[in-house]
Amino acid sequence: MEKESSLMKKKPKKFNYTPGAYAVQCYKCMKWRSVGSKHEFETIRASFIEDPWYCNKNPNVSCDDPADLEYDASRIWIIDKPNLPKPPQGFERELVLRRCYSKIDAHYTTPTGKKVRAPSEIGKFLDSKSEYKEAGVDVSQFCFTVPKIMNDMFLRKRESGDDKSRNVKSKVEDD
Ligand SMILES: [Zn+2]
Repeated sequence: MEKESSLMKKKPKKFNYTPGAYAVQCYKCMKWRSVGSKHEFETIRASFIEDPWYCNKNPNVSCDDPADLEYDASRIWIIDKPNLPKPPQGFERELVLRRCYSKIDAHYTTPTGKKVRAPSEIGKFLDSKSEYKEAGVDVSQFCFTVPKIMNDMFLRKRESGDDKSRNVKSKVEDD
């Protein structure tokens, strides 16, 4: 079972969604804990298999504490693959969920603001900018594998028009 995920939250102004929160699952108690930032998430993810995550890696948190997030229908969960390489400094890995909720795209934004969507494009970019190659940036540090979209619960709840999910969501957003 994959044990890591970023969360999608609705962003009304755009047609596509980007992750609104990040979470990691404890290897021992299986509870979900919030991860403060995307970069922290990427650091945990990069060595997730050899260095599994436990609640007590958060200061003052133990497995006895209630989960930060419940895996439920209040949002779309996307489950990332473990051990994806952390993007080189200055490069951002971005995920965009299409409005249909069923397709997700992964791309990188380079330090120059260029969006790249395939290893061949990264290769071309590095060939044209020798300073990154010289700094040790390599195509192998990029991964375009997309995470799994766990949208079944969310879509079912949405179709049934259950208001409870909306309350949970706005509660999370107030935090
Ligand atoms: Zn735990």
